[in-house]
Amino acid sequence: MLLLKNCTLINFNPARVVENGDIAIDGEKIIAVGGDLSADYPHAQCKYLHGKLVMPGLVCAHNHFYSGLSRGIMAPIAPCPDFISTLKNLWWRLDRALDEESLYYSGLICSLEAIRHGCTAVIDHHASPNLIKGSLAILRRGFIEAGLRGMTCFETTDRNGGLKELEAGIAENIDFARLIDARRNDSLEERLVECHIGAHAPFTVPDSGLTMLAEAKQETGRGLHIHVAEDRYDVSHSHDRYGMDPIARLDKFGLLDEKTLIAHGLWLSADEIALLNQRSACLAHNARSNMNNHVGYNHHLADYQLAALGTDGIGADMFEELKFAYFKHRDAGGPLWPDSFLRMLHNGNILLERNFAQPFGQLAAGYTADLTICDYVSPTPLQAENLAGHLAFGLNSAAVHSVIIAGRLVYEDRQFPSDIAPLYARARKAAARLWQNMAKL
Ligand SMILES: [Zn+2]
Repeated sequence: MLLLKNCTLINFNPARVVENGDIAIDGEKIIAVGGDLSADYPHAQCKYLHGKLVMPGLVCAHNHFYSGLSRGIMAPIAPCPDFISTLKNLWWRLDRALDEESLYYSGLICSLEAIRHGCTAVIDHHASPNLIKGSLAILRRGFIEAGLRGMTCFETTDRNGGLKELEAGIAENIDFARLIDARRNDSLEERLVECHIGAHAPFTVPDSGLTMLAEAKQETGRGLHIHVAEDRYDVSHSHDRYGMDPIARLDKFGLLDEKTLIAHGLWLSADEIALLNQRSACLAHNARSNMNNHVGYNHHLADYQLAALGTDGIGADMFEELKFAYFKHRDAGGPLWPDSFLRMLHNGNILLERNFAQPFGQLAAGYTADLTICDYVSPTPLQAENLAGHLAFGLNSAAVHSVIIAGRLVYEDRQFPSDIAPLYARARKAAARLWQNMAKL
């Protein structure tokens, strides 16, 4: 049992700031939150936090761990005047170049970096067309070795190999869901990873693929995770090829429900947003990625019942992502204030609740003990009413001091439990080899 003493307790939704609180943790659960709890738990291991902020764990709602070794990439890449050429010249060559070793280090390093930035869970969306079978289990190893919670899935598509590739993607999603189901009664570490049924985007999945995705969803009880309308092309393609909006097309195959995660959605119509809301699906907004790919801005964030923040492969620093999301929104003339973006950050925990079937996102008895602890000395009062302002204009990931996931300290006093330098050295070698392999494709 762990007792966190003298914390400044933070809740995001509803916003709350309480000084001098204690948190008792047993197993993976918070069992009590209150004033001085020492007398109630005399045998607990105490951690004295001296007023540090303790908040519900930060969740990255959309990421691509397969791109973890692309930072500073040096490979011959043809000019990319539009989004589709960016996919073809860069990302769809990187994903084809991945092998078991580069994928493992990519996932492991991304998991460690997420934790270092205060992230307790990452929802991943994976592609490695030349290594489909078993790829999700390789990523899962990285999550578990770092101690990070998360989800992953394979991006089903036919963009490289037609029906055979579609079937292999579906099979990998189903096999992975079965692997997770088989570990349901194992240790806490074994239960850190859940899954979606993944698909790349409507423009790379034909109707036969949507039928298979619907069957996989039915068979596994999982939800769909897919990019939709990241670029206008996805919408034009759907209108041209299928004569309907992409969201209506997904709905026609029964693919929308409360476990569905739609990434980007920049070019969805009011009718499509209404349909997503009706089905209780969630949007993952990725502000930095949208800016990087010059795909435009999602002007309809305020219309979604449930929207969460993702990075789309640009790390997992959710403090930074929140700032970009807010500032870009202001720059685009949007109506929302920091409190809306803090709620979107909180909504990552709602996604976890829907997929892990246990409570997340509050400092309260009975909730999962996924916590981010920050060293933050504010020059101005910090209280519930201005908490979101502190996140937008002050607090950043340099303040992350410790991270608790499933009740375990996976990062303490800015240190991992073991030396990660050799892992980074091996990752650099794997990255150089990956870039060389890309040059051949
Ligand atoms: Zn993405």
